[in-house]
Amino acid sequence: MKALFAFVLLLVAIPVAAETVALRAGAVIDPASGTIERNQIILVNDGMITAIGAAVSIPAGSRVIDLSHEWVLPGLMDAHTHLTLTEVTGDAPFESFYIKESTTYRAMRGLHNAQTLLDAGFTTLRDIGNSGEYAMQDVRRAIEKGWFVGPTIIDAGKIITPFGGQSHEIPPEQGSFWKYEYLDADNAAEIRKAVRTNIYYGAGVIKLVLDNSPYHYSLEEVRAAVDEAHRAGFPVAVHVYGGEAADTAIEAGVDSIEHGFFLTDTQLKKIHDKGIFLVSTDFPRALLDVIGTSGGIFPPPEVLAPKILDRLTRAHRLGVRIVYGSDIVMERPGQTRADLMFDYLAVWKQAGLSSMETLKGMTSEAAQLLRVDGTRGRIARGLAADLIAVPADPLADIEVLRRVDFVMKNGRVVRQGVRGTP
Ligand SMILES: [Zn+2]
Repeated sequence: MKALFAFVLLLVAIPVAAETVALRAGAVIDPASGTIERNQIILVNDGMITAIGAAVSIPAGSRVIDLSHEWVLPGLMDAHTHLTLTEVTGDAPFESFYIKESTTYRAMRGLHNAQTLLDAGFTTLRDIGNSGEYAMQDVRRAIEKGWFVGPTIIDAGKIITPFGGQSHEIPPEQGSFWKYEYLDADNAAEIRKAVRTNIYYGAGVIKLVLDNSPYHYSLEEVRAAVDEAHRAGFPVAVHVYGGEAADTAIEAGVDSIEHGFFLTDTQLKKIHDKGIFLVSTDFPRALLDVIGTSGGIFPPPEVLAPKILDRLTRAHRLGVRIVYGSDIVMERPGQTRADLMFDYLAVWKQAGLSSMETLKGMTSEAAQLLRVDGTRGRIARGLAADLIAVPADPLADIEVLRRVDFVMKNGRVVRQGVRGTP
């Protein structure tokens, strides 16, 4: 009898299923469909959402997390980060941030920033270049290995530009030192090689700069990038403010316009018709005042701030698919990057986006641009359990995103409770 008992114990001990976590959610918001459901049970098993609904029963032995007084929504996404970069603000030379920092040092900063953003509710980030010698690739790999807790990261590798990176007026005797940070590519063949180089080193998106120099890529050149990237299964993001370079980007069929501060209505209509995403990087005026011209990359704040708001208002009115991207490259005393990123919400509100539209741009729309919509961006059965909770209704006041008090990444509770001060 004793032996039989031991045998039975052994049998039940072997096939231990992964722990089931049951979330009791007061409300679940689905920005993709624009709906809200009350009193939902979400079951999470092995990192995945296995069931969701009001009538779902909680299996015996589950770990129950009570979010019954909370609003639960998909983890946030930022489609335009530079996690390894902290810019020297004011009118310091643009190159200041990379000429004195090693790739190793920047990888550590990237990991630190990735964790800071995850803690604030950003479960997926698209890092859009500027990481020295592929620092973000190692950050991504270390997180994917499980060495560190972090968000899902899609990384652009080195930014592809016409000769000169994003540098201006560097004397010839200095050499093209920006190659530490950029890939110069000056014809279609060089662009194809640059795209392949980035993909070889692990890029999940290709980033081109189109109008940061007096000479712009031709249609043929941008098409070469799009063709090469798309054949390998990756989207193309272009830094462009407007003008003829924006026409080229739109015509070439890129996947996202980054910034697009000076886009005309005609261009925005074409962007809409072609299904191109606008990653609008809508810096609030107060932040622009700190950033300055970013060493000549930005127009002065008094010019740029009204342009940003006007362009976002028109893009929204014309039905352009807008995706949240912060382009944040700094912290301030007492404010993390995440705190500064939530300042963008006020600009979106001012431009006429509803709270639901804002959440869509920060979740399901971003997931489509990042090509992770098969696994993330919604709270749905079969998707990864990337979700957050806030203590009040974000549809009534989007600013409550600053008070995310629950973060789950791939089914693992990253934080429950109030976010710490920096
Ligand atoms: Zn940027």
